[in-house]
Amino acid sequence: PDSATPEAGSDLETMSAASSSPSSSSSAKRLEGKVALVTGGATGIGEAIVRLFREHGAKICIADIQDEAGQQLRDALGDQDVMFVHCDVTVEDEVSAAVDAVAQRFGSLDVMVNNAGITGSKVTDIRNVDFAEVRKVFDINVHGVFLGMKHAARVMIPQKRGSIVSLASVASVIGGMGPHAYTASKHAVAGLTKSVAGELGRHGVRVNCVSPYAVPTALSMPHLPQGARADDALKDFLAFVGGEANLKGVDLMPRDVAEAVLYLASDEARYVSALNLTVDGGFTAVNHNLKPFED
Ligand code: NAD
Repeated sequence: PDSATPEAGSDLETMSAASSSPSSSSSAKRLEGKVALVTGGATGIGEAIVRLFREHGAKICIADIQDEAGQQLRDALGDQDVMFVHCDVTVEDEVSAAVDAVAQRFGSLDVMVNNAGITGSKVTDIRNVDFAEVRKVFDINVHGVFLGMKHAARVMIPQKRGSIVSLASVASVIGGMGPHAYTASKHAVAGLTKSVAGELGRHGVRVNCVSPYAVPTALSMPHLPQGARADDALKDFLAFVGGEANLKGVDLMPRDVAEAVLYLASDEARYVSALNLTVDGGFTAVNHNLKPFED
């Protein structure tokens, strides 16, 4: 009966038109007018996020411990809307100062990307794990993300808007994808995301994380098994991870991860919160042992 009632249909249309979000077709630049801070933004996935955000009109702060690489990226992007701050995410004063510096320079903080992270050394038998290494991985991957969320929230709550996106990993979903401390730390990022999303929803602030499969960067490439190494590091890496992947015919690159972060940062995801968005071609959702569809 509803479909036969013109008033009902037109009410719905009016309501949806009134509340419609900016779509990608109406706005090619999906972060126009927004201000973003990217930790670990000088290289790797962070650099890809910085470049893509800039293409989409965001004002950007690159926050990293690699001063030279961060300043070079800022200079390469070369305009007034990009800044670099030295920031070690494990030091609360530095995270706090970075957030304040962005808000002061650009007037707000709309998007906080907690991207800085490390894997720690090679996968080791738990009996031989160096506990100092476990603490270091947790300090950067968990405490660093916690501090990023804490200080972003300080600015975003009074604004009554904001998007916090953290880099987790497929290691936030399943075991066996890296060292024990790395897996535990990434599960913690997924847990923190849910917990903080639960608190900040009432302030209009969204909190999500992104979980990629293996991406060629300085973090992941040294972990390629010796047996998979020949002469071209990138080619060898892509061949190895492609062989293990569920989705074939596509190489996962930093830009693909940046696209997922862009979605969560933008108003296109304005009702998306507490999500762990896997960018893994289905890797964490399928059984790799039984292969019922093999030719
Ligand atoms: P990367 O090593 O290429 O880059 C990491 C960046 O973080 C560097 O610029 C580094 O200087 C910075 N950084 C390190 N410690 C820091 C600290 N204490 N304070 C501030 N900056 C710091 O790594 P990546 O591969 O680009 O990884 C980025 C994120 O993505 C990490 O959280 C990582 O766990 C996650 N991730 C990576 C992969 C992958 O395969 N590369 C897969 C899943 C998740």
